[in-house]
Amino acid sequence: MTTAAAPSLGAENPWLNAQRQFDNAADILELTPGLRAVLREVRRELVVRFPVKLDTGDVRMFEGYRVQHNTTRGPAKGGLRFHPETSLDEVKALAMWMTWKCALVNIPFGGAKGGVVCDPRALSRRELERLSRRFASEITVLIGPESDIPAPDVNTGAQIMAWIMDTISMEAGYSVPAAVTGKPLDIGGSEGRPSATGRGVTIVALEACGKLGIDPGEATVAVQGFGNVGSVSAELMHEAGFRVCAISDLGGGIYSPDGIHIPALLAHRSHTGTIERFAGTTPVTNRELLELPVDVLVPAALENQITAANAGRIQARLVVEGANGPTTPDADSILERRGITVVPDILANAGGVTVSYFEWVQDLQSLFWEEGEINRRLERILQRSFGQMWRQAQAHTVSLRLGAYLVAVKRVADATAVRGIYP
Ligand code: GLU
Repeated sequence: MTTAAAPSLGAENPWLNAQRQFDNAADILELTPGLRAVLREVRRELVVRFPVKLDTGDVRMFEGYRVQHNTTRGPAKGGLRFHPETSLDEVKALAMWMTWKCALVNIPFGGAKGGVVCDPRALSRRELERLSRRFASEITVLIGPESDIPAPDVNTGAQIMAWIMDTISMEAGYSVPAAVTGKPLDIGGSEGRPSATGRGVTIVALEACGKLGIDPGEATVAVQGFGNVGSVSAELMHEAGFRVCAISDLGGGIYSPDGIHIPALLAHRSHTGTIERFAGTTPVTNRELLELPVDVLVPAALENQITAANAGRIQARLVVEGANGPTTPDADSILERRGITVVPDILANAGGVTVSYFEWVQDLQSLFWEEGEINRRLERILQRSFGQMWRQAQAHTVSLRLGAYLVAVKRVADATAVRGIYP
């Protein structure tokens, strides 16, 4: 099938797309013009430019952002990404999506995001540490357990969170573990946090399969991305009985209609440093992977992967958005017309921030839970949120994304209305 749909203006600007998604929900909820104006803008955006000393002794300037979209339901919450193509508009969109995500799973946070324009692969470990620490220092005006709590995102992980936690603590003069989540276990991290996003993807994929009458034991899956989200999703979906047939990372992908043994692939990657040339598979590009004949597609890389240009060729019956913003609004309409179900990012990848919430609670109480407890609580929250999203979508005969937005935006709108406008 070919697609003739022309992309709308600014179709790949994530911020315009985020506002468009919000507007669709605001229309149905009939928000007052005032409330709509409040919620469709970000509350604070901080742009910082800072020097980092390279190993050569030279100094290079970097640009970074921390954006708080909304703090009505609690402290701002959201990750930090290190990526050469990140931008203020991208970070604003990601911050808004965090607000809806936290509201949908009903945890007491607002939404934030941050980023540094850099290619971490081109930096040494010591340069990366200096960059992380200096960036943390630049944004300390916003960060803290009661105000704004960063976490990992694209190209950032537990080590970078440890450096950021240490920097904030050194500047405060005492340890502030609850200022950052996704930390290593040794310094107040939570059991289950590294696998939480992929676990959440798997939980909601199983819920969606149940509703659509897809038997996981018979279903094939393609996963785009093999970072924290993609690799854990592939592993846990494999464990849950799905046949994972395709996987990709930055360098391209691999495909086997008979299925890929994910534990063996993980071993292959830790030996060779790549997923390429895994026995029994053929190479595919990232683009081709999206269009493979599978039942379930899990985009778990970056934004704007499913667009008006390829949505007509997606063959999966179910898309579970492990990444933030992988489907543009134009593509959403095409998928909806074609009867393809999309479990939206704000639910599908909410496992990460949900366990971040558990981590923050544990840090504040200095009382730590076992992994079984964490995973049970996570499953309960995601299953309940899935049901609420599903019922809203059915009640209004709209997509799951719009159903999810109706739940989330209403919660933030109600909280805003009851708090009132200061002064
Ligand atoms: N970066 C993750 C997300 O996009 C996690 C955020 C967090 O744990 O605060 O949801």
